[in-house]
Amino acid sequence: MAELDASKLKVTLSEKKSKLLDNDKLVFGRSFTDHMLSIEWTEAEGWAAPEIKPYGPLVLDPSCCVFHYAFELFEGMKAYKDAKGNIRIFRPDMNMIRMNKSAERICLPKFDGAVLTDLIGKLIKIDERFIPEGQGFSLYIRPTLIGTTAGVGVHHPDRALLYVILSPVGPYYATGFKAVSLEATDYATRAWPGGVGDKKLGANYAPCILPQLEAEKRGYQQNLWLFGPNNNVTEVGSMNVFFVFKNPQNNKNELVTAPLDGTILEGVTRDSILKLARERLNPDEWEVNERYYSINEVAEKAEKGQLVEAFGSGTAAVVSPIKKIGWKGSDIDVPLLEDKEYGQLTKTVQQWIMDIQYGIDEHPWSHVIA
Ligand SMILES: *Cc1c(COP(=O)(O)O)cnc(C)c1O
Repeated sequence: MAELDASKLKVTLSEKKSKLLDNDKLVFGRSFTDHMLSIEWTEAEGWAAPEIKPYGPLVLDPSCCVFHYAFELFEGMKAYKDAKGNIRIFRPDMNMIRMNKSAERICLPKFDGAVLTDLIGKLIKIDERFIPEGQGFSLYIRPTLIGTTAGVGVHHPDRALLYVILSPVGPYYATGFKAVSLEATDYATRAWPGGVGDKKLGANYAPCILPQLEAEKRGYQQNLWLFGPNNNVTEVGSMNVFFVFKNPQNNKNELVTAPLDGTILEGVTRDSILKLARERLNPDEWEVNERYYSINEVAEKAEKGQLVEAFGSGTAAVVSPIKKIGWKGSDIDVPLLEDKEYGQLTKTVQQWIMDIQYGIDEHPWSHVIA
């Protein structure tokens, strides 16, 4: 049974050389580079030789299990060009661990994450010219793993395809931060204990779009997913979520996010924010907590003037300030700095992470592609 092996890589370069889009024409995840990485797996032989080849359609039997039973998972990461022209990726080891956990859960094959990171690096090098330059610009990396066994019987896949595509992207908010409004949602559930909401499985996302459209009709951009009889806050559809509360007992600020109990996607950005906040915020002024908190607690604190700020976190936007949350027919207003679309900590955290991603702050989390 062959392991994933980067030394077996076969490269077929594309004959076509796409024109690059201007930075201001980049729409998130709409255009892709000229090449893709593709690796087949079979139960009998293990991982085949990896291939980098021209970007193009897949040919799959219509009965393939990915189409019928959602044997699909993905990852989202980014490559950044630093001021010296180095290409960097942010904590790829974390994405590889998560991808393997997702694979294990739906009986798709696992692999050596360091080898896939190496192969992704080679793909990025080949399509390096697509990495847009400038703060906020990057190359979005989408590793995908699907079951390709043909036949509509329901069983574990004995064939799979791992592929990686790349998309040049601009800053999530072209005009700087733009705070979002969320609708706290209790009539539909994104994830539940014992479920798979903590895995990046495609099957978790399609069912969340209808509630999102409903929220949009009422003027909100995304759902804030609640869970359980207490209406605990979990996360947003593609972001983890943080609140800052003022604690009147000790006069400290509390940075709080929900604990990883299986109902929360284990965000790399979330983990990074928690680690940096614990390292860098003054403990005389700050508490950093992973704990349960309900939407009622948020509403009460807002009422008492103890809600300081709120933001979502994820690879796409790094942090995304939140300005209001619809709940039970009225809005919880989240304070923003005067004349700004964000709170103070939101801005600070964004800068911490971006400085590491772009190599301004030399940090072990930033992985330079050789
Ligand atoms: C990907 C994702 C996140 C953010 O994870 P990062 O690793 O920080 O990009 C949060 N929630 C959901 C549901 C996600 O799919």
